[in-house]
Amino acid sequence: MTQAQRIGVLGGTFDPVHYGHLRPALELSEALELDVMTLIPNHWPVHRGETQATTQQRLAMLDLAVEGTALRVDDREARRDQPSYTVDTLQAMHDENPDSSLIFCMGEDAFNGFASWHRWERILELANIVVMERPDTQLSEWALQLIEQRSGIIERRPVTQLSISATDIRRRILHGLSIRYLVPEPVKEYITHNNLYQSASSVAGQPKN
Ligand code: ATP
Repeated sequence: MTQAQRIGVLGGTFDPVHYGHLRPALELSEALELDVMTLIPNHWPVHRGETQATTQQRLAMLDLAVEGTALRVDDREARRDQPSYTVDTLQAMHDENPDSSLIFCMGEDAFNGFASWHRWERILELANIVVMERPDTQLSEWALQLIEQRSGIIERRPVTQLSISATDIRRRILHGLSIRYLVPEPVKEYITHNNLYQSASSVAGQPKN
């Protein structure tokens, strides 16, 4: 038997996962009184270019990052052999547990591109959206209007502002700079051990949405 739950979902590339994902995810989990906050890495990001670590490596880093915390990792998209659309993931989660409420969380940068997402209007029927504030990002006019039009379904939330991005982490590694305190220590060790993000292509060529 399934139970009604409040389930938070944070999708992303997590290439690699960093504290800019983890801290806001934890804060939203507490503030929204979620039963669970789930991080779902993409298999093959539909809205972006190729990832630099493999799917298995991104999953391994996520597992290390959430170990011993209330955050969970769901590998359903990573396991799929085809592009993973958020709408399909949310539909599957809804079908598994129809009494639960889904709360899909995204940063302001991601929300700015929401209009290009596959069947985004269906997403708004399946889940509530929480837009997390993100440093160095401004919401577009379209995004602001949509939040106003769909208030009650889409909500903007402050979270501790951490100016950390995976792009910057990859850039630092390429230049031989430390990434300590930007990612959990076990993730840092995994990156070092597996020589990840050592080539220039790991920094460039990451088009957004
Ligand atoms: P990249 O630099 O490679 O584009 P990223 O750091 O933006 O990666 P993603 O995996 O693309 O990380 O992000 C997953 C989700 O987390 C997105 O909704 C994104 O907006 C959000 N996010 C990422 N970093 C932060 C941050 N520092 N603060 C708030 N939200 C963030």
